[in-house]
Amino acid sequence: MATEIKGIVTRRIDFKENDEIISVFSQELGRVPLLVRGAKRANSRYKALTQLFTYGDFGISQRDGLSLLYQGETIDYFSRLKMNYQAMSHAAYLCELINQVGVDYQPDPELFTWFLTCLQLMDEGHEPEGLTLAFELQILMRLGIALQLSGCAICQSQQIIGFSLAMGGFVCANHAPQNRQQLVDQPLVIKTLIALSRQDVSTLVNIKLPTEVKPILRQVFDQIFEQYSGLYLKSQKFLSTDLKF
Ligand SMILES: [Zn+2]
Repeated sequence: MATEIKGIVTRRIDFKENDEIISVFSQELGRVPLLVRGAKRANSRYKALTQLFTYGDFGISQRDGLSLLYQGETIDYFSRLKMNYQAMSHAAYLCELINQVGVDYQPDPELFTWFLTCLQLMDEGHEPEGLTLAFELQILMRLGIALQLSGCAICQSQQIIGFSLAMGGFVCANHAPQNRQQLVDQPLVIKTLIALSRQDVSTLVNIKLPTEVKPILRQVFDQIFEQYSGLYLKSQKFLSTDLKF
């Protein structure tokens, strides 16, 4: 069935001598595995379209498994993002999350909007760290891991004193772990976590993390993903190493 989708390339793999298989996260169909014939030929008209992060219009012949690209136009290459190492490593991580959490041919238009908005803002020069954390919260929700960030995870009290990984959210003095080393209790980190949890896609543009909070929240989110998500994320490790300053 011939159909048109708008999507972003999240992965590309060499296939046979001249072809490529790309993964496109699309508004209309969710993740779409796509065979691009002749993509590796020097004169291929799809050279730009099949690059990682390219946002484009894809005319596809839709099949059950691998669909086939028959025409396409690039909408945005995100070229400024690609020139910024920090932004690029974060964008690559978002792609990896999509690759692991997205389901072929199952649309999630809201997640698509989050993904596109994050890439656009990174391309415009917004700091990638906060955008990435907000996006990760979206991914966690889709994995059924809802962090309790609106009160104590146990009793809903608003008198919270910190974040506990073991409790999966904020805790009050009564429900804080005995070992206080397991509590993330810096006021600025708590404030930032609350702000992130209230973010919606239209306010992503306003995210700006205090510098001292970045490595702490990165570590917290790494631990959440490691313990709860069941995902193995290569580029996340890379991101954490990158952020140790
Ligand atoms: Zn409590």
